Order: sequence, then structure tokens, then C-alpha cells
Amino acid sequence: MNTHAIELTTRDGQQLRFECADDQNLLEAAASARIVLPAQCGQGSCGTCYADVTHGDFTLGKHNPSALPVADEAKGGTLLCCTFPHSDLRIALPFDHDRILIGEIKVRNAEITAIDSVGENTLRLELCLAPNEDGGSVAEFEPGQFMELEVPGQDIKRAYSLANIGNWEGRLEFLIRLQPGGLFSTWLREQAAVGQTLIVHGPKGAFGLSESGLRPRWFVAGGTGLAPMLSMLRRMAEFQEPHPARLYFGANRAEELFCQTELKALQAELPQLQVIYCVWKPEDNWQGFSGTPVDALAQDLADATVLPDIYLCGPPALIDAAEAAARAKGVPDKQVISERFLPA
Ligand SMILES: Cc1cc2nc3c(=O)[nH]c(=O)nc-3n(C[C@H](O)[C@H](O)[C@H](O)COP(=O)(O)OP(=O)(O)OC[C@H]3O[C@@H](n4cnc5c(N)ncnc54)[C@H](O)[C@@H]3O)c2cc1C
Repeated sequence: MNTHAIELTTRDGQQLRFECADDQNLLEAAASARIVLPAQCGQGSCGTCYADVTHGDFTLGKHNPSALPVADEAKGGTLLCCTFPHSDLRIALPFDHDRILIGEIKVRNAEITAIDSVGENTLRLELCLAPNEDGGSVAEFEPGQFMELEVPGQDIKRAYSLANIGNWEGRLEFLIRLQPGGLFSTWLREQAAVGQTLIVHGPKGAFGLSESGLRPRWFVAGGTGLAPMLSMLRRMAEFQEPHPARLYFGANRAEELFCQTELKALQAELPQLQVIYCVWKPEDNWQGFSGTPVDALAQDLADATVLPDIYLCGPPALIDAAEAAARAKGVPDKQVISERFLPA
């Protein structure tokens, strides 16, 4: 068995090194060196551990093609959880050093403090972290990150993006689409109640705001893909960031849209924020945009004088279509930042 030297370079230019045997995947080898990289499923299904190999040879193991589009794979893109090195490798990570944890992922108890229906098959779940060893309950995470929630009584976790921002009180807010027949969805629908305790792992993930001067920020969300966008916009409001901002929020039918009150409150704090509600199959009296959020994005990109940073979150089909629209207008790949909501 051979071992190889792996060199990672983060988006902000910092380097980390570790060794990886040729029968080990890069994610596990990094974790053995106490370098915890953003990841979720660990089996090539979710795309969260995406990175670009800039030098060296490797094998990419079995993975879900939705998690690694062919165009990305063709330019050296890989999923670290199923990458096995044949030589020393140099890898460019598409996120800053602050998204890497040195040590171990935090695991904590959290109590359900609210569970409300916000739309058809969509819940808002609020948790409060139990105090840790030093008595503090602080919820520390960056906007755009997610947590993994354990399905009670089973050794199974599900990823959900945080919709709020870090706070001293330990509050965690999620927007959850109840999937038909889904394990955690069924538990939420049939058994979850205020006062119960859940085990949460994280925060995790590299999705989040990119610091790029005052370039406009356009956010495109499908369904509960709104959660990380709310978190990022709430952070912009908290810091009174002046970037021009637009949110394209889409659903199939008007009744499926949610969080309009929260978005109105956000616009009061962030007056430059434009919210474009998009409905694919509207009724005759619909006042917003008729079509998908990607249709609205493409239409506005055609008139854009400054190419914005584009943040995408939702099902893979929405992200693929939005990436294609951005590419067609010449938006550089590094200005398109996405998170795919894939099944576990
Ligand atoms: C990084 C990350 C962040 C995420 N954040 C959120 C979030 O904030 N809100 C949210 O609602 N979801 C989010 N998801 C998606 C969520 O984790 C999955 O939908 C999860 O599998 C649902 O768990 P479940 O136990 O209810 O269903 P499972 O038991 O995992 O699935 C059971 C059945 O439902 C289908 N299914 C499950 N999820 C999906 C899906 N997303 N699309 C299509 N079919 C599906 C499966 O194909 C399967 O047949 C995120 C996913 C990732 C990778």
C-alpha cells in the first residue's frame, strides 16, 4: 500500500497537508489528521464535499451523477468522499479556511421549542441547544451552513440548512419539506412535539456568502432552499451590508410559497432587497412572476450591466438550469455558489 501527500488550498489561499493511502478516500484521510472538511453523506450522494483537483492522478469511485455534474467532473471536479489517490495531489477547495474544523464535529442535544406548518408539506422547526459543559448555549454557525438531525431512536441523520443566524441563546431554525415516505419526515409528521429532545451534529458545510467587494448578490431559491438564503440575508441585515440584493423565490403554486411575513420584515431592515416571487403554475389573479425562478433570473441577467454573485439552493434540476443560464450570460463559475438539496 502506498501513501500520498495531499495538499489543500482554500479559496482564501491557506494551505493544509495530510497523508492519504491509496485505498483510503480523501475525506476520511483528512479526518484522521483531525481536518474536518465540509461534507454530509460520505457516499457520493449529496455533493457537499466538492473540490477541484489541480494536479495528480486519482480514481473517482461510485457516486450520484446529480451530485457531480459531468461539466464539473470534466474540469477536474471531484467529490472528496469517493476520491482515492494514485499520486500526490494538489486540490483547490471552493471555500475559505474558516469552513474547516480542526478537531471533531460538535454533537449536542437540542429541545424542540416550536414546530409550525408554514405551507403545504412544509414545516418551520425551532430548536434550542442544551447548555454545554461550560454552561453556555451559544449557537455558533455561519449563514449558509447546515446541521444534521438524528432520527430519534435510530442511528440515522438528515441534513437541514439553518434559516436563522448565530446567537447566544442557542436558537436553531429550519424550514423542512416533508418528503413522502421519508424517515425523518414521517417522524416529524406523526410524532414530533414541543419539549422533545433531538441530537444535532454540526454546524457543517461550505455554502455561504462570498466576500467579493460590493458586487450585487442575487439569491435563487426553490422551496425550502429558501432556508440558507434567509440566513445569509439576515446576516446582511444584521451587518447592514450595502450590496444590491435580489431574492428569486419559487414554488409550483402560489399556495406553496411561505415566509412572506419574514421576508417583508427583512426588507424593512434591508431596503435594497428586492423579492421576486415566482410561481410556475399561477392562477389568473397571480400578481408576481409567472414561471420558474430560473426564468426570472435569465430574464434579469439579460439586462444586467454588472454580473452579480449568484447563490443557488434547492433541487438539483433548479441548480443545473440556473448554472446554465448564468454560464450563457458569461457569469464566471466562481461567482456562482450553490447547495443541492439531495435525498440522504
Ligand atoms: C446539505 C443539505 C442541506 C439540506 N437542507 C435542507 C433543508 O433546509 N430543508 C429541506 O427540506 N431539505 C433539506 N435537504 C434535503 C434533506 O436532507 C433530504 O430531503 C432528506 O433525505 C429528507 O429526509 P427524510 O428522512 O424525510 O427522507 P428520506 O428517508 O431520506 O427519503 C425517503 C424518500 O423520499 C425521497 N426524497 C427525500 N428527500 C428528497 C428530496 N430532497 N428530493 C426528492 N426526493 C426526496 C427519497 O428519494 C426517498 O424515496 C438538505 C440536503 C442537503 C444535502
